[in-house]
Amino acid sequence: MSSRVEEIIRRRVLTEVEKYPFFQRAVVALSGGKDSGSLLHAFIDTYPNKEVIPVHLNLGIKGFSEASECFAKMQAERAGLRLMVFNLKRELGFTIMDAERLYPKVCSVCGGFKRYLLNKIAFELGADIILTAHHLEDFLVRMLKSVLNAGFEELARFKTYLPRNGNLIAKGRPFCRVPESLIVEYAFLKGIPFLSEKCPIGRKENVERFRRTVEILARRQSQKLLYFSSLTKLAEMLQNSGAVTMPELTPCSSCGFLASSEICSFCARMKKIRAFLGRDQAP
Ligand SMILES: [Zn+2]
Repeated sequence: MSSRVEEIIRRRVLTEVEKYPFFQRAVVALSGGKDSGSLLHAFIDTYPNKEVIPVHLNLGIKGFSEASECFAKMQAERAGLRLMVFNLKRELGFTIMDAERLYPKVCSVCGGFKRYLLNKIAFELGADIILTAHHLEDFLVRMLKSVLNAGFEELARFKTYLPRNGNLIAKGRPFCRVPESLIVEYAFLKGIPFLSEKCPIGRKENVERFRRTVEILARRQSQKLLYFSSLTKLAEMLQNSGAVTMPELTPCSSCGFLASSEICSFCARMKKIRAFLGRDQAP
């Protein structure tokens, strides 16, 4: 018999995923933390007949990435799946710690790398969709920041599901209406192993401040859900208003994946990092 927490999570995952067009093969991005570990299990419980490939990106962050990979592996094994690992150092010749030397505000660079690499891996695996575990508070923080910083383009681009566009694989966030507290309960209830340590090089004071603001504004889960739907409606209105223009996407001249500039930000940054490390290592 399933518990109340399991039932709520299952129902919310189902409500979201049923909005997506039919898909069969899903890549689940597994970081080793509680959110993605819970997503993998909740998704498999809800959709036992879909093909799931858990993918982990080892970013080469000393003392953190080794443990993250280890937990991601345990989570996949517990679900009876084999984890696919992409090791940045091995595959690309550099780590996020190398990137940080060139880009001190490394969080957004790291986020961009993760999005690009997950898409590339999913594309090569012939997956129909990439599922990530962003939860209710992640979305509230992101949307609130966009509104208050006049980041209307960012808000207009906001979607909990992104359909496939050429070689950009569809993206779904089945936990967008699940609060973090429920995920924690679920992870403990299901005995999902997870790494509770946060990334040691993440500078997230700003995000933390917004997160605390969200908690002050919305004490109850129902209030958070209400704010979420208000901000989602605002994003839709912006999308439909024509006031914000979306960038046109063309194939990157280096890798071929659709991008808003001639060379995509991943290829441009990778080139810079390699040149920087090359100079560094030169005698
Ligand atoms: Zn590129």
